[in-house]
Amino acid sequence: MDRANHSATTAATQSTPLVHLSGVRQIYHKSDNADLVVLDDVSLTVREGEIVGLLGRSGSGKSTLLRIISGLLTPTGGQVLWRGAPVLGPCAGIAMVFQSFALFPWLTVLENVLIGLQALGVPAAEARHRALEAIDLIGLDGFESAYPKELSGGMRQRVGLARALVVHPHLLLMDEPFSALDVLTAETLRTDIIALWSEGRLPIQSILIVTHNIEEAVLMCDRILIFSSNPGRVAREIEVALPHPRNRLDPEFRQRVDDIYGLMTQRDAPRAQDKRSIDAIPGAGIGLALPKVSTNRLSGLIELLAAPPYNGKADLPDVAAALQMEADELFPAVETLQLLRLAEMAEGDVQLTDAGHRFADQGVDARKRLFRDHLLAYVPLAALIRSVLDERASHRAPFVRFSEQLEDHMSEERAEDTMRAIITWGRYAELFGYDEQTQQFNLENPV
Ligand code: ADP
Ligand code: MG
Repeated sequence: MDRANHSATTAATQSTPLVHLSGVRQIYHKSDNADLVVLDDVSLTVREGEIVGLLGRSGSGKSTLLRIISGLLTPTGGQVLWRGAPVLGPCAGIAMVFQSFALFPWLTVLENVLIGLQALGVPAAEARHRALEAIDLIGLDGFESAYPKELSGGMRQRVGLARALVVHPHLLLMDEPFSALDVLTAETLRTDIIALWSEGRLPIQSILIVTHNIEEAVLMCDRILIFSSNPGRVAREIEVALPHPRNRLDPEFRQRVDDIYGLMTQRDAPRAQDKRSIDAIPGAGIGLALPKVSTNRLSGLIELLAAPPYNGKADLPDVAAALQMEADELFPAVETLQLLRLAEMAEGDVQLTDAGHRFADQGVDARKRLFRDHLLAYVPLAALIRSVLDERASHRAPFVRFSEQLEDHMSEERAEDTMRAIITWGRYAELFGYDEQTQQFNLENPV
């Protein structure tokens, strides 16, 4: 089948549902007895012939959802149907590719791929034939007897893919499959997969890919489900009907990225008359969970980005290396800069905005003023705290006044982290003060 002629809309509306989830709920029981609602009322359908993206922040429950779909985890509530029948255990028609590759270091490439077939009881000769075919298809010809440690990250993930494809699954689940790779390697692998898919050469019907990378979702998917956090839920669904191969520089492509970016980060300051703006996406608005990132780390990152050799734009892995951090550890800081519109992600690079450059160029006081303006404009919780303090005659308000409101939107733990973040940021910006002893916000030093 030539999928290039097979439009996303046709696939999404007419073909058979492979997977159908309705009202799926997942609660993890924590040791202190406070339950964590990770997924709440998740409903989605994946049909034959489509690539669906699940786009959400880290910790929003995406991996949990994939485990549920694959039958590895039985959800606390709700229904999972595979071709119309309830899923009761690991599902034979589904294979998964992991972010961490999950290869066996003591097995060769061929042996790692054969593992995928072991449970299926395929006769040895046929298994070998299929494994070699998958290895060939995915561009690993000649590396059959290599060991994982002899391969680059990109090659290792190709082994992960071959191992999933060898079973000829109907649905391929991919859990952030490119996020451990450097930018160029990831792009090559994405392009190869899309080319094979468009030519109808992958022995699969559908792909469900989990990612936190907006561009990746727009590059690959026919449909994107935007997943909200705390608890995880499908907040929006977006069709991307652009033909493959897609061009990242195409204005339509940029527009999609921009739209989704806006939906996920609430780029526009909320307007009272716009009902969609504030709590339209749970996890945005007041209920936006904030990562605990120090203002020192934020200013350090801005300074690093602004200075040569980056001059305002850098690859995340390079920045991580320069700061001696894992890319994953860097995400919260980068997310915070994005949230505050001091940086944005473009083409896999993090890039300072004009405001970010101004921040870097200024002295302490001007930096604080800029930070304060952006906090008020883009972090609804900061604006809420300040307005409550302004309104009250005492200009004081207790911690719990806000933490309880946050807990309507997120776990207690997240609410605590979010409160700690806003206290740190608000103090730095001199937007409000906080007294640890009385656990009260105040306006004592702020301007
Ligand atoms: P994502 O893949 O979107 O980053 P996960 O599904 O891995 O999110 O995790 C969602 C939330 O559930 C996180 O807060 C995580 O700490 C928690 N979580 C994940 N697995 C478990 C588990 N087995 N027990 C308890 N909590 C878990
Ligand atoms: Mg995950």
